Amino acid sequence: MSEFDLIVAGGQIVTPHSAYRAAVHVKGGRIVRIAESPEGSAEKTVDAGGLHVMAGFLDAHCHIMDPGYPECEDFARGTGAAAKAGLTCILDVPRHQPPIDSARRVEEQRAYLAGKGVVDYGFMAGVYPYNVEDVEAMWRAGAVALKCFTVEIHETPPLMPGQLQRLFRLASGFGGAILIHAEDDSVVRANEALLRATGRKDYLVHAEMHTREAQELAVDSVCSVAEYALKPPARLVFAHISAPEGLRRIHKAQMRGAPVYAETMGHYLTLTLDDLRKKGPWVKFAPTAREPGTVEEMWRCLNQGLIHQISSDHAPQPGRLIAPGEKDIWASPLVTGANIEVNTRLMLNGVSEGKTTLQRLAQILSAGPAQHYGLYPRKGAVQVGSDADLVVVDMGRTETMERGKTVSKGGWTMHDGKPLKGAPVMTFVRGRLVYEEGRVVGEPGWGKFVTSH
Ligand SMILES: [Zn+2]
Repeated sequence: MSEFDLIVAGGQIVTPHSAYRAAVHVKGGRIVRIAESPEGSAEKTVDAGGLHVMAGFLDAHCHIMDPGYPECEDFARGTGAAAKAGLTCILDVPRHQPPIDSARRVEEQRAYLAGKGVVDYGFMAGVYPYNVEDVEAMWRAGAVALKCFTVEIHETPPLMPGQLQRLFRLASGFGGAILIHAEDDSVVRANEALLRATGRKDYLVHAEMHTREAQELAVDSVCSVAEYALKPPARLVFAHISAPEGLRRIHKAQMRGAPVYAETMGHYLTLTLDDLRKKGPWVKFAPTAREPGTVEEMWRCLNQGLIHQISSDHAPQPGRLIAPGEKDIWASPLVTGANIEVNTRLMLNGVSEGKTTLQRLAQILSAGPAQHYGLYPRKGAVQVGSDADLVVVDMGRTETMERGKTVSKGGWTMHDGKPLKGAPVMTFVRGRLVYEEGRVVGEPGWGKFVTSH
């Protein structure tokens, strides 16, 4: 019998604080030894010479929408797409039907997802004005975090500052994690009413509705509440911050001791209003893409440490639902396409273009999200004792996303046709190969449910 199940040898290990050549030894799904070269025998040895070996990426904000929207995605396809992107764990965020809004619904969702995941997964429960008092019960039932809004999106009612204060105090009591979509409801509504009254249907209407000030105002007010009401080990992640002002306000709250963090997505580091002007409903996400120039500022902020995690906000509606938006931007839903599949590649491509480093990515794609959701160092680390979640990356490989060729049901991405340099070539979840060279080889059911408690 072999001493180890797996040895990944010869690769450059990249962590947030180091990069060194080593062999990772795996037994029973965990990393049991890291040594300069292979020591002892293994069932399987992988030669990662010339490649980088990183902790599996963690997508802490994606919408698989299962159950509820079978036309958009299902859990096996969505987690298969994750494996292709080097993700070894995903956190599914509410957009389910029926909503996950009670402890009973959390238990039902756990049972529903059993046997469906290709990679490991957790999921969040939704907090609305009617269930703020139930958050501890939802947390205890296994929700990895609590998702809430300050703005009405997808017909979900927003929380007002008083309700947020109550939520933060409750979460401080049990050490819960919260993800918040922060745009000011009254500003977005007022913009919408004025724009609709003009009869305009052009693409830029979307940006004029979801303005920078709508995000700034909400981030500012939520930070103010958090500075008083949120105490560690509870923590709050601001979802998809799209402009530097929000990042700076969150940083200021951190300096004052509030346990708050900023998330963004690859699309806020690559797409601008020019893309919205050209592609309209195919890049209609909220908050919106910003003015050219903002993207460069966002990369600067990322390198200054003001961005703490990168997620996909995967929302893969099929083309049939989006096409009506080409004539009337109001007529199509918010989308990001099969973003779970392309988001990590955008970040690797950013490294290829010299915009940031692989070490920074090790923090914001792996360690950071695992820390924010209480999964670190079981997830998000290449160290002895951690789950053997590994992604082998070839920074020399260029791949182009193509319409109709996604693993995700969505069938398209916001970056189709754009060559991206730097690609995951192998993904291991707890020591088992789930993706290799363009093929998802993992089976639904290998992925295990995770939560922090
Ligand atoms: Zn989202």
